[in-house]
Amino acid sequence: MKILLANPRGFCAGVIMAIETVDEALELVGPPLYVYHEIVHNRHVVDRFVKLGVTFVDTIDEVPENGTVVFSAHGVSPEVRNRARERNCTMIDATCPLVTKVHMEAIRYARQGYHILLVGHAGHDEVVGTVGEAPNAITIVESPQDVAKLHFEDENPLAYLTQTTLSMDDANRIISAIKDKFPNVKEPPSDDICYATTNRQHAVRYLAPEADLCIVVGSKNSSNSVRLTEIAENSGTRAHLVDDVSEIDPTWLENVETLLLTAGASAPDHLVTGIIEYLQSNYDGHLDERHTTVEDMHFELPRSLRVLRETAV
Ligand code: SF4
Repeated sequence: MKILLANPRGFCAGVIMAIETVDEALELVGPPLYVYHEIVHNRHVVDRFVKLGVTFVDTIDEVPENGTVVFSAHGVSPEVRNRARERNCTMIDATCPLVTKVHMEAIRYARQGYHILLVGHAGHDEVVGTVGEAPNAITIVESPQDVAKLHFEDENPLAYLTQTTLSMDDANRIISAIKDKFPNVKEPPSDDICYATTNRQHAVRYLAPEADLCIVVGSKNSSNSVRLTEIAENSGTRAHLVDDVSEIDPTWLENVETLLLTAGASAPDHLVTGIIEYLQSNYDGHLDERHTTVEDMHFELPRSLRVLRETAV
């Protein structure tokens, strides 16, 4: 079996920064360390931190007063920050800078009097955080059908923003519907779908037609990982999303001559290696590594962590 190994795949700069933040925070303050929501949407990453003594919480009220809390890569609303402040918590903000950029755009448009159409998945941590920046000025749209139902009584001008991890194809369809219905809508100053999402999707779109099957490594609640499976399927290639090698069903591999292997932005690469080893041992797998884009993005650790480090010395 030929294993087409997609590059880029796996960890993005935001995920690397968020994971290093929790690792270093653990070193500095030790357990109990609290993380608001999953630091990144990956079961293996979360399980590792739980074993190291991290407590993941869904509300700030679960963090004891004066405790230390890390905000996840997906970002949080001002309400969450305020509640942590009221509880006198030490806050370490591991929000990806590319998510912060969308928050800043939402704040700016809302201040300028725009009503914002946020293209994204309702309930996703990132979308919840962005909406929290201007709750009265944002409407979430998930599909062209949502756009068709929109009706605004007031005269406010409109702008749109998008979640960072959407499928580019889906987002473009929704944005087209927005522009058709509201030709004067203001566009974001630059693309909100992030470089990592774009590059991983581009690799799958380019390589999937060569493969009989696509395996995406990632968790079910990882938006960008789910999008990768959809893109492979839209190219006519069967696709499955797995957390690790144990979830591969051998019946999927029957008659597969070429398998495309990739990973979402929150999936550790050792899980990909585990699958390669399994395919090499059991299916005479041989690697054909493909690079569609070179990435060199790097994000600094959060300032709040650097401050904590300096005070700990
Ligand atoms: S997927 Fe994009 S927005 Fe999300 S953490 Fe990675 S770089 Fe940041």
